[in-house]
Amino acid sequence: MNNIKRRRFIKRVILYNTSALFGASILNACSKESFGENPGLESEGPLLSKKLEYLPIQSDNPSIALWKKKCEECGDCIEACAQKQKVFGTYNASPSKHVCIHCGACISACEEGALSEKYNWQNVLDAINDPSKIVVASISPAVRVAIGDYFNMQTGAFLPGNVVGACRAVGFDYVLDTNFSADLTIMEEAAELQKRLSENDGIPQFTSCCPAWIKYVEMYYPSLINNLSTVRSPISMQGAMVKSYFAQKKGIDARNIIHVAVAPCTAKKYEITREELSTDYMPSSDIVITTNELAILMRQKNVNLSGQSGSFDQLMGAGSGAAIIFGNTGGVMRAALRTAYFNIMGVNPPANLMELKQVQGFSGLRAAQVTIGTVTLNVAVCYEMRNAIKLLEQVRSNTCKYQFIEVMACKGGCIGGAGQHADSDKLEKRMKALNTADVKASNRYCHENPEIKMVYQDFLGDVGGDQAKKYLHTTYSDKSNLL
Ligand code: SF4
Ligand code: SF4
Ligand code: SF4
Repeated sequence: MNNIKRRRFIKRVILYNTSALFGASILNACSKESFGENPGLESEGPLLSKKLEYLPIQSDNPSIALWKKKCEECGDCIEACAQKQKVFGTYNASPSKHVCIHCGACISACEEGALSEKYNWQNVLDAINDPSKIVVASISPAVRVAIGDYFNMQTGAFLPGNVVGACRAVGFDYVLDTNFSADLTIMEEAAELQKRLSENDGIPQFTSCCPAWIKYVEMYYPSLINNLSTVRSPISMQGAMVKSYFAQKKGIDARNIIHVAVAPCTAKKYEITREELSTDYMPSSDIVITTNELAILMRQKNVNLSGQSGSFDQLMGAGSGAAIIFGNTGGVMRAALRTAYFNIMGVNPPANLMELKQVQGFSGLRAAQVTIGTVTLNVAVCYEMRNAIKLLEQVRSNTCKYQFIEVMACKGGCIGGAGQHADSDKLEKRMKALNTADVKASNRYCHENPEIKMVYQDFLGDVGGDQAKKYLHTTYSDKSNLL
């Protein structure tokens, strides 16, 4: 056993015993040095001058923080970045040059706690403590099946009501469901797919929910930007609708709203910095915190999850079963095909299309053939850029047989996001919990969500129309100059 492995072994023994005393839940958050304060602008010194032993994360990275004093220089983060996400090794890395898609795979690979999300929970507390601000939380699908891990609850427990109650106890003024915007995403994306198919333009259509994936295409395959759906990610839509529709309906000056997205995702911290996603010259979302950070906030305010309950606020608080499965790899595809089927056939799809078993599970790359009326679609689903590259190369060489492709950066989709603790057992249980919640949902179709019908009627107008384009779609740009 070398020194690094020995130190890790001892640390695991200590962590195991600590977890028995305090609960594994809090352990993950506590293992981050300073309990959630970001590292400062430390001098890098000469450490990296010869061979890079760790990822040279820059202090202005909006998503990832490096705690250099904890780093054992094992190189595991470099391996994850290079092997899984195909980023490290594609550019001339140096102590001052680091390229990143903000996926967080390096955080998941680091056993020393030397990498973490960039903490923003203190910004949330500051906003809550400012009486001039209306602080709105939006909860992503995967958070509700992961937060229980931090409070010794059953792994994979489906806890939307507890999360809502806990957020209110922490001090949020409104608690909304990002599933609302997952439904909006599908309304727009299914229509976009139909249009592209009919015009035979921009096929295959790639999904656009994952900002890490989007940045990867912009940097490495800018010639395929036209194949990306122009539909914003659910969080980006949610922010845009909070600052426009929700503010108007509630009679709130949008400039006083602080919109906080609560997500499993580190890449969303980067996404909210994209200027093209602003709403009426304001940031659509002001702060992104991870599930880890929500647990930290709850500890700061002495809020215990198990005793909490509540319901999402109306207008943007209802989501369908199709939205719930957005947290799983394959979920966006399944949701989109349900509504595409309805749009084409005028009735909801049969059971085999509802479940679409071929694209479920943890295999990195899955495919299915789907028939809708006279249309036969070949679809594919993958996660991690090492799998996405196979499809990107097919598209670039004109040998791709798929018309619709879902790509997520994290293993298993957002349930495997780096902002919440994950191992294989947890991922499987979270995936099962989201699928079960979909099956049990009173409504499993985004096009039947009454709040979705209302927002198009009262505010957005037609699906894919001018107002929808303004608030629900975006643009991309060639970022190959970053390499
Ligand atoms: S995985 Fe963690 S400990 Fe290992 S080199 Fe990377 S940051 Fe350092
Ligand atoms: S966040 Fe992703 S792309 Fe950035 S360094 Fe980590 S593994 Fe690499
Ligand atoms: S798969 Fe989900 S959690 Fe992971 S980077 Fe993409 S959007 Fe974020």
